[in-house]
Amino acid sequence: MTAMRRRDILRALVAAPFLTGAAARAVAAAKPLTAGSTARVRPGDPGWPSATQWNALHRQTGGRLITVRSPLENCRDTPDGAACRELFKELKNPYAIGDQVGLTQTTGWVDAWTFQPSVYAVAAEMTADVVAAVNFAREHNLRLVIKGGGHSYLGRSNSPDSLLIWTRRMNPVVMHDGFVAQGCTGQADPQPAVSVGPGAIWGHTYNEVTTKAGRYVQGGGCLTVGVAGLVLAGGFGSYSKQFSTAAANLLQAEVVTADGKVRIANACTNPDLYWGLKGGGGGSLGAVTRLTLRTHDLPNFFGGVFATIHAQSDAAFRRLISRLIAFYADNLFNPHWGEIVTLRPGNQMDIRMAFQGLDQQQAEAIWRPFFDWVVTAMPDDFAYWLGPTIRSVAARRRWDPAFLKAYLPGALLVDDRPGAPADNVFWAANLAEAGHFIFGYESLWLPAALLQRDQQGALADALATASRLAPVELHFQKGLAGGSPAARAAARDTAMNPKVLDAFALAIVGGEGPPTYPNLAGHAPDLVAARKSAGMVGSAMALLKRLAPDGGCYFAESNFFESGWPQAYWGPNYPRLMAVKQKYDPTGLFFVHHGVGSEAWNADGFTRAAAGRG
Ligand SMILES: Cc1cc2nc3c(=O)[nH]c(=O)nc-3n(C[C@H](O)[C@H](O)[C@H](O)COP(=O)(O)OP(=O)(O)OC[C@H]3O[C@@H](n4cnc5c(N)ncnc54)[C@H](O)[C@@H]3O)c2cc1C
Repeated sequence: MTAMRRRDILRALVAAPFLTGAAARAVAAAKPLTAGSTARVRPGDPGWPSATQWNALHRQTGGRLITVRSPLENCRDTPDGAACRELFKELKNPYAIGDQVGLTQTTGWVDAWTFQPSVYAVAAEMTADVVAAVNFAREHNLRLVIKGGGHSYLGRSNSPDSLLIWTRRMNPVVMHDGFVAQGCTGQADPQPAVSVGPGAIWGHTYNEVTTKAGRYVQGGGCLTVGVAGLVLAGGFGSYSKQFSTAAANLLQAEVVTADGKVRIANACTNPDLYWGLKGGGGGSLGAVTRLTLRTHDLPNFFGGVFATIHAQSDAAFRRLISRLIAFYADNLFNPHWGEIVTLRPGNQMDIRMAFQGLDQQQAEAIWRPFFDWVVTAMPDDFAYWLGPTIRSVAARRRWDPAFLKAYLPGALLVDDRPGAPADNVFWAANLAEAGHFIFGYESLWLPAALLQRDQQGALADALATASRLAPVELHFQKGLAGGSPAARAAARDTAMNPKVLDAFALAIVGGEGPPTYPNLAGHAPDLVAARKSAGMVGSAMALLKRLAPDGGCYFAESNFFESGWPQAYWGPNYPRLMAVKQKYDPTGLFFVHHGVGSEAWNADGFTRAAAGRG
């Protein structure tokens, strides 16, 4: 753990007026959650644990039970005070947010959820801490929440009146030359791998695995996303078309299940749980305390293609989109290419593509016809607002903070808190999402059939029309059609909706604003504008859904209000996933919004649903 993080956590511990206020609460024998329990307890309820019981948990976890005080309280007490100003500055620093037990990376979502802190948190440092928290929550019938990187768009890592397992400090990264999963001796060859604590974030993990050890591990794009949350959701990064999802690279997990047992899950031991953890969604099957992921040889180079093209008319923009689709289908629809093209209102196309396994000259040769075509229609139809630029780097430097600061200064931002570690860096492209308040957000897997010549026109029409309403992002690395056979085969053996295998991209449409909290004076969102934006997002996505009505969407990056979410997230895998849930968490201790089995509960996870909830 870095000095910075240790200091912040110590500050939180010191600041916590631990457990004194709870002493007066009524003590009643807490009933364990059973299949028949209809409600979890909140502070003030007769079953809420006594101060003595909380103190016992505090001792059992070596003093790592902390009272959660959200820094938002500073703003409630003194809206114009320095502490409140500092908080809103830090809400644009994902490392500062991540080091706070009382914050999440998304502040909320209009009419969906708003961040609310837990009552207590176990700032876990070891598996035994997690076991103690799970047992305590089960025995006292509490709402239990798990937070790692805190990057859930859908608010899955916060709940009021809950006990939080906060894994931030469980962040070791350990390389293996020849890993054999437990119980697999004789059945699987030793292979290179890395074991990662659930609270580690991807930027630090890449630094250990790629910069220092010269290997590749499949993670996500954003450097501050948590490892466990991403792997359990499925998890895509720039090169997933070559290396598959993060979940498909999971070799073994250590997980604390609802009964408090520490289980190993891999292909040979608890294979049903192992399969469910691979893309079944975080926070539903157990609390993961360690993940071991396959590592791969590094390619020679990683590179990127950057351009922003402005079209001078709607008709020219439609032509540009059409050309891009044909160009993608003919040249980029293969394991080398991933990342994003964004179509923005105002006829703007942002190209931010990534490649692996090619050198810069090869990438330039591939793109030349497309960029030349744009030039031939300038200035009447198009203008370059940025680039085009094609860069490549030796693969080992791809996530090297020192190298990136020198080589790509504009692309990188740093954790600017005094004393912050030098490797606390994040992509400038993710700045808007730090502390953002979501207006609307939806995703859809776009089937590769839409790339066929006779369907390209309809796709271009829909994209052009939708982009008038809201920015439409095409995340090519988040659809595995066109991927390597190994990537596709590995992803097929996960819980994720198999539609991902037929999709050439995940389309994401969203609208967001800066950090705001409803009911926080001086910092409340403009709800009228937010709802208007949400409407535009919905209308834009509706146009795309006409092309792929049953496309499905990605659990971690989807609409909070997604109807038919079990089918959309997991498709035909949902019954099998439910069987895993029922086996390992029959009473529903683990609950997250639209997680497997959550239909048995009302929206807040405190009371059982009378009948099935959608
Ligand atoms: C800025 C940004 C960029 C993103 N980029 C990508 C991307 O490139 N690719 C991609 O695939 N996704 C991406 N995502 C989505 C991201 O992968 C998911 O939101 C992911 O679940 C976040 O994990 P976390 O640990 O940071 O979040 P958290 O909010 O802490 O956790 C997310 C969920 O996982 C559960 N969870 C966390 N830790 C554990 C654990 N140890 N055991 C069991 N459950 C656990 C939580 O309870 C919660 O339900 C991005 C999100 C953001 C905000």
